[in-house]
Amino acid sequence: MAGIVIVGAGQAGASLAAKVRALGYDGRVTLIGEEPAPPYQRPPLSKGYLLREMELERIYLRAPSFWKENEIDLRLAEPVRLIDRARKTVRAGNASIPYDKLALTIGSHPRQIPAAAGGSLGGVYTIRTLADVDAMAVECQPGRKLLIVGGGYLGLEVAAVGVRLGLEITVIEVAPRILQRVAAPPTSNYFRSLHSSHGVNILENTGLDRLTGTGRVSGAVLSNGMKIPADFVVVAIGVTPATNIAEEAGLAIENGIRTDSRGLTSDPGIWSAGECASFPHEGRRVRLESVGNAIDHAELVAKNMLGGSENYRAKPWFWSDQYDVKLQIAGLNTGYDRIVERKGDRERSRSIWYFEGGRLLALDAMNEARAYMVAKRIIEAGQTVSLENVADASRDVKSLLSEATKNPEAIAVDVGDVDAPSGPRE
Ligand SMILES: Cc1cc2nc3c(=O)[nH]c(=O)nc-3n(C[C@H](O)[C@H](O)[C@H](O)COP(=O)(O)OP(=O)(O)OC[C@H]3O[C@@H](n4cnc5c(N)ncnc54)[C@H](O)[C@@H]3O)c2cc1C
Repeated sequence: MAGIVIVGAGQAGASLAAKVRALGYDGRVTLIGEEPAPPYQRPPLSKGYLLREMELERIYLRAPSFWKENEIDLRLAEPVRLIDRARKTVRAGNASIPYDKLALTIGSHPRQIPAAAGGSLGGVYTIRTLADVDAMAVECQPGRKLLIVGGGYLGLEVAAVGVRLGLEITVIEVAPRILQRVAAPPTSNYFRSLHSSHGVNILENTGLDRLTGTGRVSGAVLSNGMKIPADFVVVAIGVTPATNIAEEAGLAIENGIRTDSRGLTSDPGIWSAGECASFPHEGRRVRLESVGNAIDHAELVAKNMLGGSENYRAKPWFWSDQYDVKLQIAGLNTGYDRIVERKGDRERSRSIWYFEGGRLLALDAMNEARAYMVAKRIIEAGQTVSLENVADASRDVKSLLSEATKNPEAIAVDVGDVDAPSGPRE
């Protein structure tokens, strides 16, 4: 028995391997990763680990002994270069590894600035891997100038950590406002004001013309012609799903590796989960960039690889930490037409409620755990709540739970193709 082979030893791959064992599968399980580190969490890379507050051991998803104890053959630093669907093998290094069932959990690649615009100069970093952050650590000395290209959640988290490390920070964002791709104006305004109050220089409507320097970056020319100095640069302009080996193997690709609602790709022996996979969700096709999705999707796929036939009902949620603010997001706000802003009891506590046609879609909660809990429960139960009740400041947010009513449109169906949003990172 060749067993189950999982390519990509990140959040989804590790969850899938652990789940097939937890479900009692006793065949071979092989988990292959291209990075040298055992599976680890990525969120601390732009938070506690970057701040040097979180030790390396704490970011690993499992104790080192877990893999052996569970008879999971963890093969690290072995990029898979080829999937041979006819022979049912994958090529990792010089080894040809057979599979009965294959799962692709290969994540995403950060978008880069082209070399012609200075993207390959020394001192220019992306933040996706442990190695990226370790390489950048030496740059983070107090008083140095950091330019962050991209005002999404990742760029803003790096800015918040940079402030605490004593860096001088400029964030440039080509869109009219930071977080434009993922949030409504009040959320952007909230975070702009938060960062400005910590001395971060945020330039919106400002793209990058090129990075300058000889061998190493020393500055940037912005789209408005302005020149600014920079000791180093973090590029946080989104990701592209890792699809190369899937594409070369002839699998269907559509904003990621295309799967059906059970996680099956266009090959009946190959599954996919996590950030590299797109799947049907409430009338459209989505690809989610979050830890919660990587775990839930992978665990569902584990069940289905062992003979189940469950549809994936994603329950999108996400968080971001910046200074003393915890942002929690429930649902997906794609397509919203109205928003309601509620102030919480404490300074800087806010919640932004997104509606489409009167139906509650999503919520951004800043230091407002109660609103997050309420909205998450309503959305996940396939319910909605009236915009008027949410807008009524005299109502306690918890009372909205008892006012929630069934949302007739919330039943997830396995549909064909509509648009393909991704979210909520960057
Ligand atoms: C800096 C940062 C901060 C984040 N913060 C948050 C947060 O606060 N909240 C949140 O919900 N989400 C956050 N995310 C997103 C979250 O971490 C990802 O959505 C999640 O890790 C996706 O899991 P995954 O397993 O699909 O992909 P990954 O974790 O990226 O794992 C994919 C793995 O596959 C490997 N791989 C790729 N190709 C091959 C190949 N050919 N052969 C072998 N291996 C291969 C990759 O090297 C990688 O190790 C953050 C992400 C980053 C980068």
